[in-house]
Order: sequence, then C-alpha cells, then structure tokens
Amino acid sequence: MGRRRMLSAFKAAAEVGNYADVAVLPLDVDPQVALSRNWLMQPFYHLYEHDTVIAQMSGGSVLRMRDSSVNYFTLAPGDNVYVPAGTPHRIEPSEEGVMLTYLPLEPGLEGAAWFCEKCGSELHRFEWVHDNGADPARVYATACARFNTDAGARTCGECGTVADEVDLEALGWDVLVAPESDQNLAESAAH
Ligand SMILES: [Zn+2]
Repeated sequence: MGRRRMLSAFKAAAEVGNYADVAVLPLDVDPQVALSRNWLMQPFYHLYEHDTVIAQMSGGSVLRMRDSSVNYFTLAPGDNVYVPAGTPHRIEPSEEGVMLTYLPLEPGLEGAAWFCEKCGSELHRFEWVHDNGADPARVYATACARFNTDAGARTCGECGTVADEVDLEALGWDVLVAPESDQNLAESAAH
C-alpha cells in the first residue's frame, strides 16, 4: 500500500469503531484491505474461507486462534499474522489499536463462531457469503443479535455452561442489526 494511501487510512481510522472493517482500497484492488480501530474484545471468532493476514498498525492485542497449532499471537505495531483459511480467530485488544485485515478480492464465505469459555467446545456458528458492498459491522451485529436471542445456541452441549450475550450497545451495534427479512446468515449448530 502506498504511503499516502496509508496516511489517509489512518485519518479515516480516527472515526471508525470496533471491528468496522472499513474498506480502505477501491473495490477492484486485490487484495482488499479492511480497517478497524478496536478497543473492545471481538465478540466472536471470525473465520474466512481463504487465507488472510492481520496487521497491527498501532496499539496492541492478542490474536487468539482455534483449530490451530498456535493458540495465540501477541501483536505490537508492525506485526503481521498469517491466518490460514478456516481458522477461527478473535482479536483481544490490550490497548486501543488500528488493525488491518488483508482479504482476497473475492473472499467467498466467512463466518462467526462462538466457543464455550469453560470447556472450549464450539457453541454455534453463522456463515455468509462475503459481500464487498455490505457494511461489515452491520453483518456482525446481526449475527451477534441472532446469537443473543437463541439461548440454545449459547448453551454448551458438552458442559451446559451458558455463554453471556454479546453487549451490542457497548459496540455501538444495537442500531445496526438488520431486520429478519434481510438476513442472509446460514446457521450451523455446534459440531
Ligand atoms: Zn462447555
């Protein structure tokens, strides 16, 4: 990415919120770069059909991973993590920071998954086809709202622990949830 473009990205970052994943580049550039400014823990594990790279531009975080030989990476400014296709990963900021996600121009499927905080079993997963024209935060908000309203999805099939609801208001996502008729999320039960 050019220096000037990166500078304008940083300027834009001052105005974006947690996991906004704002597209930084024109929509015909491969790869696409999504920008977020995060200070709260990502409220789900994110996964993509293709390999991605996550870069910490400022601040710091832990990138926690599931179904991976590495459980987590600690990220400082300048660090990049390669996330293999299909690996659920969650950003846990240690301090507010700007982060970039590099995605192929046609990312295909992506998903949000939750795991039991007590025993680690997968609780629930939503999958959808990535749409470069959609507002990512709106999709995430909708997936989290669905998770919140489904007590069965939040209950661990292994140990019975019930996961907390996602605090949509803290993320500013309570106003972003799409109406039910406008949801394209496919559910997949714990497996
Ligand atoms: Zn459990």
